Amino acid sequence: MIYLDNAATTMPKPPEVYSAVLDAMKTCASLGRSGHEAARKAAETAFSCRLLAGELFELSPEQVVFTLNATHALNLAIKTIVQPGDRVVVSGFEHNAVMRPLHSLGAQAVIAGSALFDPDDTLTAFDRAMTRDTKAVICTHVSNVFGYILPVEELAALCRQRGIPLILDAAQSAGILPLSMRQLQAAFIAMPGHKGLYGPQGTGMLLCGQTPATLLEGGTGSLSVSMEMPDFLPDRAEAGTHNVPGIAGLLAGMQYLKQRGWKAVSDKEGALLALLQQLLTGLPGVRTYYAGGTLQSGVLSLTVDGWDCEMLAEQLAEAGIAVRAGLHCAPPAHQSAGTLANGTIRISVSDFNTRADIESFVAVLASILEK
Ligand code: PLP
Repeated sequence: MIYLDNAATTMPKPPEVYSAVLDAMKTCASLGRSGHEAARKAAETAFSCRLLAGELFELSPEQVVFTLNATHALNLAIKTIVQPGDRVVVSGFEHNAVMRPLHSLGAQAVIAGSALFDPDDTLTAFDRAMTRDTKAVICTHVSNVFGYILPVEELAALCRQRGIPLILDAAQSAGILPLSMRQLQAAFIAMPGHKGLYGPQGTGMLLCGQTPATLLEGGTGSLSVSMEMPDFLPDRAEAGTHNVPGIAGLLAGMQYLKQRGWKAVSDKEGALLALLQQLLTGLPGVRTYYAGGTLQSGVLSLTVDGWDCEMLAEQLAEAGIAVRAGLHCAPPAHQSAGTLANGTIRISVSDFNTRADIESFVAVLASILEK
């Protein structure tokens, strides 16, 4: 199989990740509950993971909360800040991991709609929409449909000027683009562990610029006599037994990235997308959504005249190519780009893809279209 669905979850993971997961299952117990060797090993693994996340994203280790995925982290952040009826400004490229919690809360989600690959337009739209009564701004760093890199540094500055908390969805950027809590001063940054950080599925992190509310209450191994959840991080937001094998794998994934260098990964992914764009140019009926350079990261969407995306993806899957088709859980992004009716085919790369993968994909696509 040629795997080009890395925006869903990266595959394969670095070999060290598989070993770390297995090793943790064999040697680690539950952290924070006892002082025996297996519990201590679990606690050390979790602390090392927080420490490295703190180093990579420039915040203190205790501000790093482990979650199940980016959706869990976003729910925690949103449900801390947003109350029913609140006005919340979001970009025109948000995932349902943002839109559905807002809907469920009964918040007023105002979309700062803007053109694709146009950061100036995006900033202008936010500037206009951020009224005095805006309770929060929520923005994805990179569109999971188009790879559009939104101007989050400038947006964070705007939020700081206006005193509006920013929740950043770093689902498609963590591990690929520079990301610093110290610089952004966001209220929260949510990220999966299983995409660009190369951890296992079922891992994620919430970087906390403020103390979160609790989504779950339960045992933390701390202050057990009190019926209230501890008010300190990370315990406040981490009730119950941790996913220690997942955390061990996430640590190994981040260690891989630290050694490899994020710039090397993002340059490689950028080169693969540029090659893809070049090879697709001229294929009859194929329309690509490509800007490249500093405007796009990791993902390229396309449509083909006369083809239903899902059917085309099925044929690609039969030929051993894994891509994703449809709306990719992000209807606002399709609304912004005019692809809501039929969706797109999304090709998303990782550090483990090669030029040969891209060439094979284009060759298979060309032969399907020819038939
Ligand atoms: N936000 C964006 C932009 C995403 O692309 C995704 C997943 O693809 C999510 C949030 C949700 O991530 P997770 O699957 O880790 O919950």
